[in-house]
Amino acid sequence: MMTTSRSVAVLLLLLSAGCTHNTTPSPDPLAATEAEFLRFLDSANALGAIESGLYREYGGRDLAAWQALEKRHRAQLGAKFSAIDETKLTADQANALAAMRRTFGDYASASSDGASPPVCADRSRTDLDFTTMTEVLSACFREIGNNMRFEGRTIDRGSALQLLHDIEEPARRKAVFDAFLPLWAALNGNNEPDSPYRRTIGMAAEEARKNGSYVDQAAKAIGITNAELERWLIEMLDAWRIASDPAPIEPWDFRYTTGEANRRLAVAIPPEVLVPINQRFYADLGADPGKLGVVHDLAARADKSPLAYCDFLVRGRYEADGRWRPTRALVVGTYPVGGLFSLHELVHENGHAVHISAIRNRPAFTDWPDTLFTEAFADVPSWSVFEPQWQRKYLGKEVEPETALRAQFGNVILDVTWSLFELRLLRDPSSDPNLVWTEITSHFLHIEPHPEMPWWAMRVQLGGSPGYMVNYGLGAVLTAEIRKRTAEAIGPIDAGNPRWYAWTSEQLLRFGSERNTQRLMQDFLGRPPTSQAVLEQIRRRN
Ligand SMILES: [Zn+2]
Repeated sequence: MMTTSRSVAVLLLLLSAGCTHNTTPSPDPLAATEAEFLRFLDSANALGAIESGLYREYGGRDLAAWQALEKRHRAQLGAKFSAIDETKLTADQANALAAMRRTFGDYASASSDGASPPVCADRSRTDLDFTTMTEVLSACFREIGNNMRFEGRTIDRGSALQLLHDIEEPARRKAVFDAFLPLWAALNGNNEPDSPYRRTIGMAAEEARKNGSYVDQAAKAIGITNAELERWLIEMLDAWRIASDPAPIEPWDFRYTTGEANRRLAVAIPPEVLVPINQRFYADLGADPGKLGVVHDLAARADKSPLAYCDFLVRGRYEADGRWRPTRALVVGTYPVGGLFSLHELVHENGHAVHISAIRNRPAFTDWPDTLFTEAFADVPSWSVFEPQWQRKYLGKEVEPETALRAQFGNVILDVTWSLFELRLLRDPSSDPNLVWTEITSHFLHIEPHPEMPWWAMRVQLGGSPGYMVNYGLGAVLTAEIRKRTAEAIGPIDAGNPRWYAWTSEQLLRFGSERNTQRLMQDFLGRPPTSQAVLEQIRRRN
């Protein structure tokens, strides 16, 4: 299961073999720390898989055994960090140490042993800290969002979003919106200044002043200011505004008006074909998820995550003989109804899976890069499902390009809208979220104002990770850039391209957390990214 410090030492020897300026081959001062780092991550990732409800035990250990092991390695890794004499590290070693600390920090708040998990009923408590409040709001999405009532049956939030694309009758689409009312009430109360959501965004803004928000991180990741970031978001929204029919529509009709492709292709995407189509597309890209050992957890469970995600199940590493022992990625999602919306999400999550499976680096860097790059990259393959060429090959049925683009950028532009919404609320957390949302959606999306209705509260991230949506909204800029450059370099990927995975791994993925977005994009494009490529796409749609 676990690597030994010996194998890491051998790896570092192999890595430094080509390095001639290092004349004194002293033992790497990080070797033991990196070995402990992997042991900690092995236990944390196994624990995560058990806590998700997927396994009762993993690698012969049950929940309690992994909890004990995780606790022990957490303490040992902390001790190893403290024992390092940082003045003796080279610049590369200092980077490796910083990367490990960042990864460790991501896990710091993830497990709180003993305490009972937060529940939605805690939302009115005013004694909870920021992290706990985000967990409480996530619990609301899980408890209420997994049990919404529509036409006498129970649906989950993801299925509700999909139904908004599909249902023909406006009154029934309005009824889908009404199914969100209990969730909206839990998050936003009566839109009072101390609603659970507003208290949480207030704490998020305070936290951001100390440590930076996701918006700050995203701007920093590509080396732009927050003002430039906001301008890019507005440029995208404005391109959409100009390219769309100006006749105002109701909010429950927005997805329907962009979702013609979803409706026409639904017949070709029953739930049982989602995984086979996903596997076939990635195999055609040279990244067969079966061969990569990607684990899919797609069965419905009562306590299941309300959010689709991908994570490491086991981190890859170089063995003592220098061979790479592969990463195993875990994809979690629930897709009871099929359709283009679900298919896009599954292909996106598998984009994450093939990404982390391509990392080939020392243990310190065997982790995700910036969230912005990570989310943008996962959309590189998933945007293909909207291309007629892709649809012809994998669905045997296609829609015309304008219809396909409307469906694709209908989703993207909502992500951009949420990005701007969160950016503005983080800047002024005393604003009324319903008014901020109404102002953006009525101006840019031509949506009838409904300031009485918190219809912004549809994404788990808004409560669980305030500010996170920028990684999707701004990520579209990078996705468009990467797709364009890729097509120029190795040809189109929409109908498969066997060169894609090896080429992309070499260019972008193998580094893990070693390189930031700015560096990756600069090397890849030969210049900093701009909003030009995504604007071309948005304007292309009408
Ligand atoms: Zn993602």
